[in-house]
Amino acid sequence: MRKIIIAGNWKLNKTAKETTELINLLKRDLSDISEVDSVVCPTFIALADARDALDESGIGLGAQNIYWEDSGAFTGEISGPMLKDLGVQYVIIGHSERRQFFGETDETVNKRIKAALKSDLLPIVCVGEMLEEREADKTFDVIKAQCQGGLKDLTAEEMGKIIIAYEPVWAIGTGKTATPDQAQEVHRFIRDLLAEMFNGEIAGATRIQYGGSVKSENTKELMGQPDIDGALVGGASLKADSFAAIVKNSCGIEK
Ligand code: PEP
Repeated sequence: MRKIIIAGNWKLNKTAKETTELINLLKRDLSDISEVDSVVCPTFIALADARDALDESGIGLGAQNIYWEDSGAFTGEISGPMLKDLGVQYVIIGHSERRQFFGETDETVNKRIKAALKSDLLPIVCVGEMLEEREADKTFDVIKAQCQGGLKDLTAEEMGKIIIAYEPVWAIGTGKTATPDQAQEVHRFIRDLLAEMFNGEIAGATRIQYGGSVKSENTKELMGQPDIDGALVGGASLKADSFAAIVKNSCGIEK
């Protein structure tokens, strides 16, 4: 059985003070929900305040990126040991905004995944096609290349610690959600690919989140698909009411 995981990607939003305020509201709404994993991913500079505010709430803490070296002359970067030391548990890797605006490639995704695992952090690895790629019927080719490149040389045991987020780029922040059928088709494809790359047991146990304009209104239908095991949520994670509603609407769905 796979436990649904709903993660909020706060992107470049919220000061440390605002982070604490939002977490306090989320704790009020979510502290008695344990059947779904919920995670918040604030900015690096708000992580320490977030950790203090989350204190035994059962809500997980994630970062939005990680550098692959532990330390050294890499101005502006943050490493795995630093995140671990702060009490971070998850890290988003290869988000499409990092791929589009910051030169992230499958190769750097692969290095970051290995660094996260080395520091005992759980990677949330994002894959997804652009609109032109979908329109050119290249969705599966793109997803396959991203999975094969990003997950290169990992053992099945390492894969067992990874969460995949399928995020069609055309659905991120646009209000356009993939239909449940469109998302399910790609999730199934990813699971079959993981079975080929690793083994059936790992593929069956891997949690694959959907991301792209998830809101409380479309949560049940998306989470109801057999291979959708959670959501990576951008815009709707910035308000306690909408994020809590997504988590609540994911309860009671068996995987
Ligand atoms: C995201 O950035 O991961 C995302 C899915 O954003 P949104 O929910 O705003 O589309």
